[in-house]
Amino acid sequence: MSSGGEEGDYVPWIQQFCDLFGHDYFVPVAQEFIEDDFNLTGLSSQVPYYREALYTILDYQVDTIEDVTNGTSNSDKQDLPTKSLLSHSAELLYGLIHARYIISKPGLTAMASKFERNDFGCCPRYYCDGMHLIPCGSTDVPGQETVRLYCPCCNDIYLPSSSRYLNIDGSFFGTTFPGLLIKMFPEIENQCRIRINKVNQNELGLKLFGFRINESSISGPRMKWLRMHPKSIEQRHEFENCELSIPSEDEMDDEDDEDEDDDKTMASED
Ligand SMILES: [Zn+2]
Repeated sequence: MSSGGEEGDYVPWIQQFCDLFGHDYFVPVAQEFIEDDFNLTGLSSQVPYYREALYTILDYQVDTIEDVTNGTSNSDKQDLPTKSLLSHSAELLYGLIHARYIISKPGLTAMASKFERNDFGCCPRYYCDGMHLIPCGSTDVPGQETVRLYCPCCNDIYLPSSSRYLNIDGSFFGTTFPGLLIKMFPEIENQCRIRINKVNQNELGLKLFGFRINESSISGPRMKWLRMHPKSIEQRHEFENCELSIPSEDEMDDEDDEDEDDDKTMASED
């Protein structure tokens, strides 16, 4: 059980994994992070051949059925994985560890520099003005959905433009990561604010002969609330309340009243 570090061209498993085609969203997870059992809590029940997968990631020699058949190992054949099963388990385990690593401090820093270098691509929306995207998953359960890209400027989620990312599991990035990255690096929010302020709200949306299409029209703008950002102090306060908790019924009533007022003022503006 030793790593083959003697050879000159030896590449660690983690480095090999990150260098694979389509794996450029991943950062190499620090060895110390994987060796700390606390960080791996609960993963043993999610990954088949967990021990063997973990040893593979850490570059220990692991016997497979093929090794026994070829006579290179004398281990008991019965409870050994096949080579392909072992590599699948190792990739699954690495992905799940990766999702935890990128919400730790060193992981966030590593992902932030990738974000800064624009490794995840730009938002395709014109008004986001090339805002850099953040990889995320729509679920933390593996095997459900592939990786998505979140734009902090328009708050929308996009599919990666290249098909090479279509078999990357979204849970390897997780649902927590984008929110935490933005909170950890306020500069990202700042970049979004600059872009949002640059756009004149009146210029947004489709027009016919210079007239804006009514919002209640079938062909009118959709999901406008997605592009709305709090402007006044009251609106920001309301937004923060909604973000962290479900408003109580009293508050909801108040908000309904305010909404009505808003509608009136908007109607009169138009
Ligand atoms: Zn965007």
